[in-house]
Order: sequence, then structure tokens, then C-alpha cells
Amino acid sequence: MYRIDQIYIDGAFVTPHGDEPFALFNPATEAVIGHVRLADEVDAAHAVAAAKRAFTTFSRTAPRERIDMLLRMHAAVLAREDDLLDAIVEEYGAPASRARWMARHASEVLRDAAGVLENYAFTRRMGTAEVVMQPIGVAGLITPWNNDAGFITGKLAAALAAGCTAVVKPSEMSALQTRVVTEALHAAGLPPGVFNIVTGRGDTVGAAISTHPDVTKLSFTGSTAVGKHILRTAAESLKRTTLELGGKSPVIVLDDADFDKAVPLTLQAGFMNSGQACIAGTRILVPQARLAEFEARMVAAMADVRAGDPRDAATTIGPMVSQKQWDRVQRYIGIGIDEGARVLAGGPGRPDGVQAGWLVRPTVFSDVTGDMTIAREEIFGPVLSILTYRDTEEAIAIANDTPYGLQAYVLSSNVARAREVASRIEAGRVLVNTVTHDPAAPFGGFKQSGIGREYGTFGLEAFLEPKAVLGVAA
Ligand code: NAP
Ligand code: MG
Repeated sequence: MYRIDQIYIDGAFVTPHGDEPFALFNPATEAVIGHVRLADEVDAAHAVAAAKRAFTTFSRTAPRERIDMLLRMHAAVLAREDDLLDAIVEEYGAPASRARWMARHASEVLRDAAGVLENYAFTRRMGTAEVVMQPIGVAGLITPWNNDAGFITGKLAAALAAGCTAVVKPSEMSALQTRVVTEALHAAGLPPGVFNIVTGRGDTVGAAISTHPDVTKLSFTGSTAVGKHILRTAAESLKRTTLELGGKSPVIVLDDADFDKAVPLTLQAGFMNSGQACIAGTRILVPQARLAEFEARMVAAMADVRAGDPRDAATTIGPMVSQKQWDRVQRYIGIGIDEGARVLAGGPGRPDGVQAGWLVRPTVFSDVTGDMTIAREEIFGPVLSILTYRDTEEAIAIANDTPYGLQAYVLSSNVARAREVASRIEAGRVLVNTVTHDPAAPFGGFKQSGIGREYGTFGLEAFLEPKAVLGVAA
């Protein structure tokens, strides 16, 4: 049984003032595996105060010093990769291959940020002004459970690269991963207070951070509902706010697509991270004339999609993170059936032979229309919808017929055609014939998928404020 009863403030592991207990589960077995002592508003205030004290000195460090720190952090997290992998599998249930990617990603984002900093000009001349990009202040970083370690290190990497200090509020459901990452970052030996990690509830610790007058910047990843709430409360002190929210990403299968490639890519896009991904391609847009062929290929390919024990190498889809998320996915599968969609694969309940664990049957619906709930709302599980279109104009219209705009996929044998379609999609990222992430490219949403961008230069600038100094230029 794990016992996690410390948080990290001002360079030290400390016992929180808060004492609310929280149970950690293994989602593959539903067994309680540990107990967490949650921090509260008092702890959040201590963390903000530590970050504020550290900011005075840290904000004036040279980029070179921060590059060295980021590289030390990278090495320290990389050194704990196997521990992190174990925590990700045990506490989150990611299948081993995905868990390895997540564990590696958690260190890579730190090195990526160091690389961005190497090439970034903090001072530039504009007209007669000298424009200096200045660290914005104390950053509050609020992260969800679907990639805990990578969100903590990714947001910290950008904040610290910019010269900001930070208070992180991770998901309490990820306390094992958070502990491994915190121990690793502690070993990197940064000045006290530069980063603080306070595990507690969103409505206590999260709310305290997002309303604190000494927090200048917020970066939040999570649900659209909570994102809107945070933006409203942050308005009181005009905090700069980056929101990375939900999605309902279209996969546009153009009529010239090679289904040998398109079908596997469609399943990868839809089922990545066990379907618990904001960027999951959950609306599959197929030309009406090729629907029967596409459906037959999907049914055949679904035979290799295995939901099960994340430690089993054959597993491609792990359990949902919690009973709450399992219930949510079941509810949506029920709504899909009730509203008249046709179950092509999967359906309600657990996979055959599975007695315990928050596993769902990977599900593909066909005959889905744009007004159905399953075509409009983010399900956050392995549930995909096939919609049909008559011509490319209609495909683009359906793709954009959503309040979201995080990511889109275009599959075609003709890259020029795909690029033309991509130019008309309202989404922060469009992936043509690929599902591969590029850390140099900006990431973030149009419309209700969020505000602002993460990664690369745009991600760095989200933690900087331009200051123009006039009258000093020669
Ligand atoms: P969530 O409630 O939006 O939580 C995200 C983070 O915000 C968590 O750390 C959460 O703490 C915190 N939070 C909650 N209420 C807050 C408040 N009033 N002020 C400040 N922080 C607050 O998401 P969730 O409960 O983990 O998942 C629910 C749904 O969110 C999912 O079904 C999915 O649709 C979406 N989601 C999206 C992403 C994404 O990558 N865009 C990731 C995860 C979830 P608590 O853990 O205490 O709630
Ligand atoms: Mg929540």
C-alpha cells in the first residue's frame, strides 16, 4: 500500500496543512493501492508565497543558466523513467507501449524547452524601441490525469524557460506519478521555490491558485467546463490564461484515400491513450460511396484492438481511469444506441471474459448523424463515430460543425489535395496522413478547445510579456 503524505514547497518535501484522505486505485483491478493526504488552500498559499519569493532572483537569471537547469531536469526525469513507467501502468492503466511513450515524453519536453531557449531572442528592435520579452510572474499550472507526468514537466519546462516560477496542481488521481516526477525534479537541484507541487482537489487547491492575487499566469489542461470557470474567476485579476481543453476531432477520409493506410491510422487516432485523449480523432468522415468498403475494413481491423490488462503486451486499450469515467463512457454508448446509431463493433459493458477493472469495449458506431450526442460531445473513451459525406465541401462543413477545434486529421493519397482541405479546417493542428506529434509545432485549440498555445516558441511566449523601452536605441 502506497502512502503519499507530502507535497513539495520551497525546495522541500513537507507535510501539508490539509489532511483530507484520498484513495488511489489500480484501474485495471479496481483495488485500492494507496492513500494520499491532500493539500488545501493554506498549502496553496504557502506555495504561491514561495514562488513569489523565488521569482525576484529567478526571473533575472540568464537564459544560459536556465538551459542548464532544464537539461539537469531532463537528465533527472530520464533517470527515473522506469519508475515512472511503473507508476503510469499501475495508477493510470496505460498499456505498456503507450506508458513507455508517456514516461519518455515527460523528460523530452524539458530538453525540447532547452532547445527553444537556445534559439530565442529575448530582446529585439522594433521601430525606435528596444522590445524585451519579460517573464510574466508566478505561474499556476493545473493538470489532468490523462498524462500527468508529461503535463507537469511540459508546463514547468515552458514556465521555467521563460524565467517564471511556478505552482503546480496535478490531478490527485495521479499521485504516484507526481511523486516520482517531484523526486526527480528535486534531484535536479534548482533554487528553492522555483517550482512547487501541491496535490489537492481542484475546487480547493486549484481554485486557490486560480484566484490568488500573486499568480499572474495560469496554464490549465482539462475539461471545457472547468476551463470556462477558471477563465471567469481569473478575470478578476486579469490573469493571462492558457486553456487546453476538450476536442471532438474529425478524421477526414478523402475519397482517394488508400484504406490499407487510412484504416490503421484512423484507429490509432481514435484509440490513442485508450481514447482518453483530447486530440482523439472521434468523428470519422467517410465518403458515402465508399462506406461499405470502409466499414468492412474497420470491422476486420477491430479484431486486433484489445482492451485488457495493461501489462499484457497484446493490449492496445487499457481501462478508463476511474469508475466515474467508466460510467461516463457507458452512458454515451447507451445514448448512441438510443439515438439510432448502429453498433459496428463493441457496445455496452465490459469486454468478454473481463470481471474487474474499468475496461470498456472499444466501440465504433456507424450511421451517425451530425446532430447526435455522440457526434457532438467529448466522450473521453474508446468510442468512435462514422459519419458520411457526399463531396469534399460537405466533408469540410461537417468537420467544422463542432464547438471544438483542437486537432483534425486528413487522410488522402494526394498531399496537395489534403493540404487544401487542411487550409479550411478550424483547428489548431491538422495532421495529414500521420498521427505523430511534433514538439516544435504549436499546440492548442480554436473555438472552445481553448485559448493560447503550448510547445515551441509560442508555448514559451505564453509565459512572457513584451516590454517596449523607448529612447534608448542608438
Ligand atoms: P477537470 O475536472 O477539468 O480537471 C482538470 C484539472 O483541473 C484537475 O487537476 C482538477 O482537479 C482541476 N480542477 C477542477 N476544478 C477546478 C477548479 N474549480 N479550479 C481549478 N482547478 C480545478 O477534468 P477531469 O475531472 O479530470 O476530467 C473530466 C473531463 O475533462 C473528461 O471527461 C474530459 O472530457 C476532460 N479532460 C480533458 C483533458 C484534456 O487533455 N484536454 C484531460 C483530462 C480530462 P480535480 O482532479 O480535483 O478535479
Ligand atoms: Mg474534475
